[in-house]
Amino acid sequence: MAKDAVSIHANTAQFFTRNPRGSRAKALDLSDIAAYQTFAETHHLSHLLAHAPYTLNACSADPHLRQFAKETIADDLSRLESLPNCCYNFHPGNHMKQGINQGVAFIANILNDVLTPQQHTMVLLETMAGKGTEVGWRFEELGAILNQVQLQHKMGVCLDTCHVWDSGYDIVHQLDAVLEEFDQIIGLPRLRAVHLNDSMNLCGSRKDRHAKIGQGQIGLDALVRIINHPKLRHLPFYLETPNDLSGYAEEISLLQHLYQPDSL
Ligand code: FE
Ligand code: FE
Ligand code: ZN
Repeated sequence: MAKDAVSIHANTAQFFTRNPRGSRAKALDLSDIAAYQTFAETHHLSHLLAHAPYTLNACSADPHLRQFAKETIADDLSRLESLPNCCYNFHPGNHMKQGINQGVAFIANILNDVLTPQQHTMVLLETMAGKGTEVGWRFEELGAILNQVQLQHKMGVCLDTCHVWDSGYDIVHQLDAVLEEFDQIIGLPRLRAVHLNDSMNLCGSRKDRHAKIGQGQIGLDALVRIINHPKLRHLPFYLETPNDLSGYAEEISLLQHLYQPDSL
């Protein structure tokens, strides 16, 4: 993974901690940490983001599924302790028919059970598109979860540009206003990472279909404003566009070309 990232001139990389569909079988393999660290430093691979399996549901109505989510997150976090400068991102979940308040409470409970004062890894909640009964598509919902977590300094947010657009935040025409709203409800200092994706659908569609950079409804100009925005430009950006390695290489090269040097 790290070698692939470096081969396409990436300076960030995201990986799934295990099979994204959430099987128990194939757990995170961090066998060669020292070699990885040296490699990452040499090649300026500065940010790593671990992504939890997206099938976990920390607010399922089924207590066994909540327990499974809790154990998986706890196990991932304990393994990630051996990897420095890594954040751990997860999808808050689907509240099904239980209502948003119950969903928020279940998620916060799990975080309160698994987070420890000693851990180094920052845990990020991802902004969601609002498909079905997804929790976390309104900033208020993420803010509510964060407010119920005791170890708040271990928590942050990962903003997914496709998801926020699909959920109804107009980052094409109203980027400043959306960031202002984020700041008031969640707090911009909590924003730790950006998933940079175009979207196949219109703002407010609540669909979640990622498009290649510049080939969706968000468009290249808006995405370039995002990577250069004074409140965002320092953040690590991760592509989750439907691409193979050469497609990512092209997008990285395009975006690096359009990323303006610091004006200081
Ligand atoms: Fe995600
Ligand atoms: Fe994402
Ligand atoms: Zn998505």
